[in-house]
Amino acid sequence: MANIVIDRIRKAFGAFEALKEVSLTINDGEFVSLLGPSGCGKTTLLRIIAGLETATAGDIRIGDRSIIGLPPKERGLAMVFQNYAVFPHMTVYENVAFGLRMQKADEARVKKQVEKAAGLLHIEPYLDRYPNKLSGGQRQRVAVARALAVEPKVLLMDEPLSNLDALLRLEMRTELKTVLQAAGTTTIYVTHDQTEAMGLSDRIAVMHGGVVEQVGDPVEIYNHPATRFVGGFIGNPPMNFITVPVERGHVAAGAEQLSVPQGAGDSVVLGLRGEAVALVPREAGLEMQVRVAEPMGSHLLLTGSIQGQPARVVLPPSEAVRSGDVIGLRPDRNRITWLSPESGKSYP
Ligand code: ATP
Repeated sequence: MANIVIDRIRKAFGAFEALKEVSLTINDGEFVSLLGPSGCGKTTLLRIIAGLETATAGDIRIGDRSIIGLPPKERGLAMVFQNYAVFPHMTVYENVAFGLRMQKADEARVKKQVEKAAGLLHIEPYLDRYPNKLSGGQRQRVAVARALAVEPKVLLMDEPLSNLDALLRLEMRTELKTVLQAAGTTTIYVTHDQTEAMGLSDRIAVMHGGVVEQVGDPVEIYNHPATRFVGGFIGNPPMNFITVPVERGHVAAGAEQLSVPQGAGDSVVLGLRGEAVALVPREAGLEMQVRVAEPMGSHLLLTGSIQGQPARVVLPPSEAVRSGDVIGLRPDRNRITWLSPESGKSYP
């Protein structure tokens, strides 16, 4: 079993607290992304798990064993980093075999494992080549194959696709998912790319300012963000946040009355996904001033304001809305997130 328990990890660099009591459990065979903007502490957390950085406080257990005092190579982990880290003076075969040689595996096992990993990543044709004769994407596959060849219980990846162009990223993303699912590897994956995290992960831990703001599966995080930060960080366009007055437990949206959760005060933040609306006559819904209408083919993207606050809305491509129009929007009641204007947290 390779359950990973991150238990109240703290990390200070001098007076700066990069991680403030982070706790997170990753289940055996699960793919969990650490997602957040630059500087939120995700790389630091990954490096602490790997043993490349020392925590200021807290514990990390794999299975039932604390690994916090162990050197990196005794932790049973494999790592893939952003800069590929393939050895230029070794052939692809020797690169993939590297971890196995470190483990002093016999030649038969090296061959078997290299062939298996190379097969998974489709790099068999290049086994005799040197890395400088490979494309970026091929080199990336070599790095992943090397990590998988040792059949690690746990795989740590830090932005492994960030050096690839958009098309290759997408291709590698799909492949990674297939390969890791097949191998049953427990994976912790650092990224600032929400699309990548959504596509790959069983669960996402959204980090912000050294804390985990929310942990959940991608759909749950998308539909029910726990905080304004999470709703704004996940999704393209980001969630709309419109502060609206509350009267007798309701918010008026044109002809409609939306009931707000108990505990809301005089005003509340209406968190609304851009696509969770329907076009209705102007007086029947929330009024939106459309500044720019962009036909995107698959959808119509509208940018403007609702009640004087910036908003982005996505409608079916067939809707006839133009820049400068004033329209009515009916929010899908089941897809509204109500948040506190003060704390930025969503109401349960
Ligand atoms: P990025 O996506 O840019 O890599 P990140 O979320 O991975 O960001 P970290 O690299 O974990 O962020 O850094 C978290 C914070 O800790 C940052 O503010 C960073 O400046 C700080 N930090 C990281 N390493 C050190 C260090 N060795 N000394 C001092 N501060 C550090």
